[in-house]
Amino acid sequence: MQENVSLQPFNTFGVEAKARYFTEVHTPEELKAAVNFSSSHSLKTLLLGGGSNILLTGDFNGLAIRLDLKGISEQPDGDNHILVTAQAGENWHQFVMYCLEKNYGGLENLALIPGNVGTCPIQNIGAYGTEIKDVFVRCRVLNLSSMETENFDLEKCRFGYRDSIFKQEGKEKYIILNVTFRLTTKHHSIKTEYGAIRSELNSAGIADPTIRDVAQAVITIRKSKLPDPKETGNAGSFFKNPTIPLPQFEELQMRFPNIQGYPNGDSVKVPAGWLIEQCGWKGKQIGNVASHPLQALVIINATGKATGREIFDFSTLIIDSVREKFGIELEREVNII
Ligand SMILES: Cc1cc2nc3c(=O)[nH]c(=O)nc-3n(C[C@H](O)[C@H](O)[C@H](O)COP(=O)(O)OP(=O)(O)OC[C@H]3O[C@@H](n4cnc5c(N)ncnc54)[C@H](O)[C@@H]3O)c2cc1C
Repeated sequence: MQENVSLQPFNTFGVEAKARYFTEVHTPEELKAAVNFSSSHSLKTLLLGGGSNILLTGDFNGLAIRLDLKGISEQPDGDNHILVTAQAGENWHQFVMYCLEKNYGGLENLALIPGNVGTCPIQNIGAYGTEIKDVFVRCRVLNLSSMETENFDLEKCRFGYRDSIFKQEGKEKYIILNVTFRLTTKHHSIKTEYGAIRSELNSAGIADPTIRDVAQAVITIRKSKLPDPKETGNAGSFFKNPTIPLPQFEELQMRFPNIQGYPNGDSVKVPAGWLIEQCGWKGKQIGNVASHPLQALVIINATGKATGREIFDFSTLIIDSVREKFGIELEREVNII
């Protein structure tokens, strides 16, 4: 247990904030001991995975626990599938690469997403037409009320777009210890229709791609579009894409004929990046914070000296101007601490 520890290395925004107490846990027993320390001292607890989806808006006057549970295990599941279980502290991208090396299919479109395996169910991470719910079997969690472990299956997780029970009524009630995925071993389902994957494969001269080819295309596209947090602090998309009722979308279409939207039943998902760009935020900088010049949805620590509060205030200005221009309320995807 350390005291007054800087959390700057543990958040991809690279903002400075101190934790009153800090510890790293490597086993479920160490995790339970840390949680017991927190409750016996009436401290708040902050769980840290890769720190790629949090914004620290000030010092944390509690115990920050960095989850470093490691290990991957496998169990065959019929002719064409395998169940792969990874512990919470495994790095997500390295886990995806591990699966690709073994020719296990299902995660290739999710290559290069920062963060850890234990966090992937929280917002049902997704990219390029795939979400983890598509291959998710269960996660094992520590229930913080009973201090017992239990399983959450697909249904119990109630996955939605960047959402799950762990962001709703289960928030701060469970710690995810490991996650099990059902992956293909032979007849992979290759998804190339989303985003620029197909054109990326075409320019590499690949007509009949393997899962590794798809992952490589995704990696190339992501590298060209998104800032690397090691160079420029950020947490990926700062806001969710809002879903609005169809009549509201149709009304906006009359005023803004170029508005983009993806209909889904009675509602339409509108790209938050487009809305933000229309309000003139793309590439705009205020003090140490900016909207990324290539992707308005990504807020960056432009000078490396931004505080979490500055970033939060910047995001509030964006929310205000999108509300004013379009009457749409943007929701932050990043967890505000
Ligand atoms: C450049 C960039 C690109 C990104 N692209 C995508 C993308 O394409 N798709 C996407 O979905 N996301 C994307 N993200 C967001 C982020 O990578 C994911 O949300 C990721 O799952 C966060 O993992 P993490 O371990 O870093 O979480 P952290 O930031 O460490 O934690 C997130 C939240 O979960 C809590 N938490 C951490 N571990 C646990 C646990 N084991 N049990 C319970 N609670 C826990 C934390 O307290 C915090 O509230 C991107 C981020 C960046 C920086």
